[in-house]
Amino acid sequence: MLDQAQIDTLRHQAVAARGLLIDGATGPSEGGQTLDVISPIDGTVLTTTAAGTRDDTARAVAAARAAFEDGRWRNMPPAARKRILLAWADLIEAEALALTVLGVRDNGTEIGMAIKAEAGSAVATIRYYAEAIDKLYGEIAPTSPEFMGLIHREPLGVVAAIIPWNFPLMIGAWKLGPALAVGNSVVLKPSESASLSLLRVAELAFEAGLPPGVLNVVTGRGDVVGDALARSMDVDAVVFTGSGATGRRLLAASSESNLKRCYLELGGKSANVVFADAQDLGEAAKVSAGGIFRNSGQVCVAGSRLLVERAIHDDFVAELARAAGAMSVGDPLDTATQSGAVNNLTQLEQNLAFVETAQAEGGTLYQGGERLLEDTGGYYMAPTIITDVAAAHTVAQQEVFGPVLAVTAFDTEDEAMALANSTVFGLAGGLWTANLGRAHRCVRAMKTGVVHVNTYGGPDVTVPMGGVGQSGNGVDKSLHAFDKYTDLKTAWIKL
Ligand code: NAD
Repeated sequence: MLDQAQIDTLRHQAVAARGLLIDGATGPSEGGQTLDVISPIDGTVLTTTAAGTRDDTARAVAAARAAFEDGRWRNMPPAARKRILLAWADLIEAEALALTVLGVRDNGTEIGMAIKAEAGSAVATIRYYAEAIDKLYGEIAPTSPEFMGLIHREPLGVVAAIIPWNFPLMIGAWKLGPALAVGNSVVLKPSESASLSLLRVAELAFEAGLPPGVLNVVTGRGDVVGDALARSMDVDAVVFTGSGATGRRLLAASSESNLKRCYLELGGKSANVVFADAQDLGEAAKVSAGGIFRNSGQVCVAGSRLLVERAIHDDFVAELARAAGAMSVGDPLDTATQSGAVNNLTQLEQNLAFVETAQAEGGTLYQGGERLLEDTGGYYMAPTIITDVAAAHTVAQQEVFGPVLAVTAFDTEDEAMALANSTVFGLAGGLWTANLGRAHRCVRAMKTGVVHVNTYGGPDVTVPMGGVGQSGNGVDKSLHAFDKYTDLKTAWIKL
């Protein structure tokens, strides 16, 4: 149960200027440049972070490389690495509320969601990979008897993790948990719009006993620090969550440098398909509203396209609009808020521009469409519903990453699936139907990494999460994530 008084105390604490974390020590960037951290709650400057340079990034990579090569971490017995990671998770859990409030002041997610999705999820994820690491075995291949083929799993070396602003702790832990568990060294690059909570979590790793150099954090601009990581000749893999545009740059930088692997978790335009035979349309409307409007739509798997069977279209949209209208939008540190702030002003302006374009292309603004609470200085937007959207419209094709729902009617299951698959993305989707055969058919038909049936969203770390098509490659979460952070090595032995 969240304690509003405690949150109100934490929200007023001063936040010290933050430095880089390289080789176990905190310090300024070379030249001392900083970036302002603007709180989306009220547009004020919360503190500064160090603006890392290319040289700072190279120092962090060198520290990570040295830590990897001398084996201070990867050669520890797995059970010892596990103890340190479990101690780290305990420290994060002990500070969960303070970390979450700090993160919300930085990125604007409503605290009711952030407490579970951020600190809670980071703790669960790090524990999961810590517990797994002394249960990962190599293999003996069924070769002909004069040989023995041993298959070892080895860490890659230096991993660069580049993180977005919507869920920094959750997504950060999805990368750090498996990468560190198997013995890699990491250089972490948080988003310039959400660095604070991840920096604190990284400090806690050292308190838990992680050796210096194994985890380094370089804050700063994407086109400086992120690009330097992507072009480094000494980084073995980039693991990234963020936009498709940045994903493309990472692939180009890899091909122009050392062909490092790039694992990309990119955006989506996920279809949430409601059939007239759904068992509880009221529940479907409520959950679907949450599936697009929580965290102001800044959720990669957000059900941003609603496809509704024509027979129920008008009633369902009205019901969903009622649920959306009842959501309280505003101060993300108020425990009653159901949709907090848009992360930054540029994103808010882009969201509003999408609404304009949608109408110009023939969509109908059914509800919302405007900035809210401008007098607070913060960045808030009304849950927005646009109907009469055709598959070719911009709002049906491009990711908004804001609280904007595009609604399209369909007549048949085949038409629904064709519409669902009519974008370049393939991250997630949803289905609402009581017909078991139809549910299974549609799960198979949807070209996405995740399909939700009679629900939307699910935080459990035990299942893989990743996209197909232009939503990316590779998965986070589950034991399958270890594939990104390990190489297989064959030892071919003549007996
Ligand atoms: P973004 O691509 O702008 O930034 C992500 C990170 O990349 C940041 O740390 C940024 O500094 C860095 N970066 C920016 N330019 C770079 C460059 N030239 N080289 C290297 N790094 C660079 O994305 P964002 O706005 O922070 O996040 C929103 C996007 O992330 C949305 O598209 C959303 O769908 C996606 N996302 C995807 C998932 C998923 O799991 N698939 C999860 C969350 C968010």
